[in-house]
Amino acid sequence: MATTDDPFDGITERCDDCGLETLHEVSVQIRTESLKNENAEFSREPYRVAECQRCGNRTSQRMNNA
Ligand SMILES: [Zn+2]
Repeated sequence: MATTDDPFDGITERCDDCGLETLHEVSVQIRTESLKNENAEFSREPYRVAECQRCGNRTSQRMNNA
């Protein structure tokens, strides 16, 4: 196991709001895009959500880009 200096699961990437590279906390959310619960099984999409630790701006992108 590699050791890490980060206190939490963060990565450094560019934030458009800050205009520079900042630390982001990354998580994965499952979003249901359908309005009907019975169809939710077909419309759940995993999103990668990165929250800028400097300004709090959140960016999300769908992980299934196929
Ligand atoms: Zn930012």
